[in-house]
Amino acid sequence: MIFLLRSAIAAGLLLAVAAFSQAPAHVDWASTGLEWNEQHFSPLDQINADTVGDLGLAWYVDLNTDRGQEATPLVVDGVLYNTEPWNITTAYNAATGEQLWRYDPKVPLRFGRLACCDIVTRGLGFHDGKVIIGALDGRLIAVDAKTGEEVWSVQTTDPADSYTITGAPRVYGDRILVGNGGAEMGVRGYVTAYDANDGELLWRWHTVPGNPADGFENAAMEAAAETWSGEWWQSGGGGTVWDAISYDPELDLVYIGTGNGSPWTRKFRSPEGGDNLYLASIVALDGASGEYRWHYQTTPGEEWDYTATQNMVLADMEIGGRMRQVIMQAPKNGFFYVLDRATGELISAETIAPISWATGIDMATGRPVENPEARYGTIPVMVSPGAGGAHNWNPMAYSPDTGLVYVPVTETYMAYAAAESYEPGRGLGTAFAGHDDIRREIAEYADANSKGWLSAWDPVTQTERWRVPYAQKGSGGVLATAGNLVFQGTIGTTFAAYRADTGEKVWELPVQNVPIAAPITYMVDGVQYIAVNAGWGGGLAHVERAAYSGLHLGPPRLLVFKLGGTTELPPMPEESFVVPELSPPPALEADAATVARGEALYGANCAICHGNAARGGVKDLRHMSPATHASFAEIVLGGSRAANGMASFADVLSEAESQDIHHYLIARANEDWGN
Ligand code: CA
Repeated sequence: MIFLLRSAIAAGLLLAVAAFSQAPAHVDWASTGLEWNEQHFSPLDQINADTVGDLGLAWYVDLNTDRGQEATPLVVDGVLYNTEPWNITTAYNAATGEQLWRYDPKVPLRFGRLACCDIVTRGLGFHDGKVIIGALDGRLIAVDAKTGEEVWSVQTTDPADSYTITGAPRVYGDRILVGNGGAEMGVRGYVTAYDANDGELLWRWHTVPGNPADGFENAAMEAAAETWSGEWWQSGGGGTVWDAISYDPELDLVYIGTGNGSPWTRKFRSPEGGDNLYLASIVALDGASGEYRWHYQTTPGEEWDYTATQNMVLADMEIGGRMRQVIMQAPKNGFFYVLDRATGELISAETIAPISWATGIDMATGRPVENPEARYGTIPVMVSPGAGGAHNWNPMAYSPDTGLVYVPVTETYMAYAAAESYEPGRGLGTAFAGHDDIRREIAEYADANSKGWLSAWDPVTQTERWRVPYAQKGSGGVLATAGNLVFQGTIGTTFAAYRADTGEKVWELPVQNVPIAAPITYMVDGVQYIAVNAGWGGGLAHVERAAYSGLHLGPPRLLVFKLGGTTELPPMPEESFVVPELSPPPALEADAATVARGEALYGANCAICHGNAARGGVKDLRHMSPATHASFAEIVLGGSRAANGMASFADVLSEAESQDIHHYLIARANEDWGN
């Protein structure tokens, strides 16, 4: 006999639980972090440290593009909902993989240029028979979970501005919370609550102040304006809520993580300096009204792209002899923060990776002790972490059983330099070329010293309990389970399971690609499944693809595992799906002045997606094929690869300018070829 019960008020998720001690028949994964505390922890334990050796592939499907697959799927009532680049969303029978419906919101391809870090999506929301999609073009769309037909749709952004949505919408009761990205493109960040039944706007909270002449929306904006100078609103300010949101239903507090400043270099957005609230902060808002309650700013006066948008985990734990309601975050800046989630009080903060921008946190003030050399001028300086962060969007997980947080950590270094000048809304105010000798030295150091690992972090003692080292940075999000297991996709193109208590590797399977997304687990008819999207790409690929030129990848796929699964992947294709074979570059025919013009144009228009000095990025342009060289103008101006995310630049680049960029890339290819 099966009872339906509300398993936890904190979760608001319906679990169908079998009576007495039998295993539950169906267990959902209905919200991106499973529960609103974003722990990414499942109580399921059929797959456990003893049985995991029998784990095999149950079913798989190929995904739509070779761009980053960052989504956490959802499972409700035996149906798995997955979403891919361009927000193409598909429902499958969660046990068999049979496709039930597919919905394409037909996002205009020009938004491919506005997404700083790939045309990705990190997941979906679910509310009362509806799947909730946050589309790249700023629409919030509810589709019928049974048919895939649109129920309602609202525009959450002004399509004339450079906003995009890549984060998963969160559904708390009848409220949907959704943020957006665009701090690299000159926008002002905000988060909005909508009524999940009909899409009606309930409240909106901006993260940075607007033009004082227009009046402040609330006291929090007025207070924040004191920490800015000049005409900051001209460049948007940034602080976008592009990923993590958590919720505590007892406190009725919504926690948002805010992003970097717009532009990156502080002097161009706030000439007198200042903290620039509420950039790079955790902010608590009243769930019903959206009113400000408290904030903690992780990186005052942020200018290294140190977003605090990484997932925030809520848990209760004993610290210093008393139970604390905490919120934990490992933002890009390299610290692991434990705060009191009722008050915002900083309980502790320690570094999870080597960093150079600060030496620690002054616990009396809660402020970082900065290394003044990290505040860069026009000559490049090496700062750690780089813009990829010590921890990025790839979710960390917390196990209440072990009391440990499992964090995908990266050690990164990057050259930062201010641009000579800045025009509001154009570029980052940060230079990506010039002083090439210094840049080359920094890049070589970064290549030699960057790495990644899975860290089991004790949030009470702020120490690392165990670590799984990887040869390169770039491994995936994490799932922890009551089976004493931690699952993670690895940069070694495998999917692996470790004992949660010791870190011992207990299972690993080659999967032909890198599952950078977070895995989920669910149960259908008494069988436990693990699902993960495997498709390398996203921000890390944008920033430093060069480090991965040896990566041999097969097609991106959704992979679903169960005990005794016997499905096999087709043989690995000989040609890598994502990182092409290298072709010798054409001879450089342009003069130095042309290359210099191309370099400046590249820095202003292309570097954000294609990397510092063309070293990597979403496509490594030093390694274009002869066919790509031949169709360069068709791609850049004609938009012939818009469906892949490369929208036309005909509105900002002339034919001559496009040619100058092409010459610069040929020069860069010749410089680095064979090195
Ligand atoms: Ca950013």
